[in-house]
Amino acid sequence: MSKQPLAETPCTRRSPVILVPRSKIPDSTHAELVARSAGRCEFCNVFLYRHPLTGERGNFAEDAHIVAFSERGPRGEEDRPADINNIDNLMLLCRPDHKLIDDNEERYTRPFLELRKREHEARIQRVTEYGPSTQTTVLQLKVKIGSQVVEVDRTETFEALFPRYAVADPHIIDLTGLGDEEPGAFYKLAADLIRRRAALLYEAGSDLERTRHLSVLALAPIPLLVNLGNSLSNKVATDFYQCHRTRPENRWNWYEGAPPARFALRRLRTGTDPAAVGLVLSLSGAIDIGSLPAHVDERFSVYEISPVDAVPSTGLLRQKEDLEAFRAVYRNALAELRRGHPGLKVLHVFPALPAPAAVTCGFDLLPKVDPELRIYDNVKTEGGFVERLSVNAHEQQ
Ligand SMILES: [Zn+2]
Repeated sequence: MSKQPLAETPCTRRSPVILVPRSKIPDSTHAELVARSAGRCEFCNVFLYRHPLTGERGNFAEDAHIVAFSERGPRGEEDRPADINNIDNLMLLCRPDHKLIDDNEERYTRPFLELRKREHEARIQRVTEYGPSTQTTVLQLKVKIGSQVVEVDRTETFEALFPRYAVADPHIIDLTGLGDEEPGAFYKLAADLIRRRAALLYEAGSDLERTRHLSVLALAPIPLLVNLGNSLSNKVATDFYQCHRTRPENRWNWYEGAPPARFALRRLRTGTDPAAVGLVLSLSGAIDIGSLPAHVDERFSVYEISPVDAVPSTGLLRQKEDLEAFRAVYRNALAELRRGHPGLKVLHVFPALPAPAAVTCGFDLLPKVDPELRIYDNVKTEGGFVERLSVNAHEQQ
């Protein structure tokens, strides 16, 4: 209950605004209060150094005592702090809220105001703690591989990203709802969904606009991964992660410290038609040229990127540097094919790739410069390589 007679009007109240000249509060304390509150009212969160309606600059902040400077002021008779101007007893407030809480001390009690101050300052601390370079936006794909839904464990994501921090829930492109289509239709629908969802990442107001960094943790059939990479913008720094499935924990962490794997491009066959070119990517497994589809005949020149001094295997990419080494060779290979096959419009790609390498195959394509890629998938139940998707088709751009 109020200690003041109810008839008293706010104008006659001994508000600390009137009683306490601002100079009584040390400049350093005032500065710290503004810093802790981020210059915002600790009651309504309005920014106090710009007029909320006109946008004009100005100082609309008031230093307010929780326990009043005077014993006769609001909450003034409570267990008074030794130093009434201690920062723990001060709130930065807008003028209307200052008046509201001092005119209604029975409602705006000391514990209530102390909690409000604590929560506001903790929130400011939390949202300003991490600089831009330590934030990231996480992108994941959710797919069925066989009958199993593949999802990425949150703890493993955190471990893989460290010392970056995801600022929001991961963006998950969920393809599991498309699972019952026949394969041709499924790939088209999935590729379309991936493109549309990926485009949303780059729209104004998305958290990627704030973080300026994307982390991709994706497992899916290879053609969809290439499509995913091709749907991402290389204008935003992007990191790619690999799931090391045989590792007992922290499966998405890159290994560190060994010399990077090496890769090289070689020509397996020179074809009769300079515009017919195939590219075999033998990383997670060796691909025999004899296993390519029948229409990839003697007209086709066929090239291969494979590891140097190592056997293709699913555990080949262990470190981030291994992926970077592959990307450099892949980009050079595209340039070499453009030079060696002028007018090359369509490149047929036969991939056996770890997931992040597949994503970068789409990501690293130069629109309008590199050829359209026809991506095949090795499907045992269909007897070998089947064309699944086209990316970087020039008429789409
Ligand atoms: Zn306010």
